[in-house]
Amino acid sequence: MTDSDGDRGTRDRVSIPEEIELPRLLDFYELQTADQTKIHEFYDNLRDGRLTTTECRDCEAIHYPPRIVCPECTGDNLEYVDLPHEGELFTFSEVRGGLPMGLSEHDVPFVVGVVDLGPVKLSARIDDASYADLEIGDSVELKIVEIDGPTDQERVFYRFTPQDTNNGEHE
Ligand SMILES: [Zn+2]
Repeated sequence: MTDSDGDRGTRDRVSIPEEIELPRLLDFYELQTADQTKIHEFYDNLRDGRLTTTECRDCEAIHYPPRIVCPECTGDNLEYVDLPHEGELFTFSEVRGGLPMGLSEHDVPFVVGVVDLGPVKLSARIDDASYADLEIGDSVELKIVEIDGPTDQERVFYRFTPQDTNNGEHE
């Protein structure tokens, strides 16, 4: 019965987007082209389905993450080598809150872990499993994901996912 009831058809409307586009500064994935990073070959290989890193031709150190200068001998005679796509869960935890900027509530909970690939250990998100599903030593395999926005670049990143095993210990 208030006066404004009669004006509903003429009110301005504002809308809130379902997803808010992030400014570049809040996008925590690295830009991946040769213009943007000297380790672009890592991302080029990942886009092609290969997980790689740098190995020093001089002292044979293998690095992770990939480097442009060897942290062992300070040489820059490096080459990209393939890493295994399968490894063992070395340790893991679950993120339930306190999300990094760029993630939203529908992302939680998610599992992060350290994966032992043999030559190197690396930290990664573990998809397709909850904390309760996992045990240290579980076999996991590489999963490459494509990143949507907020740039026009085709970007990828790596995660891991439990490997199908028939040992019957997990459901
Ligand atoms: Zn070296």
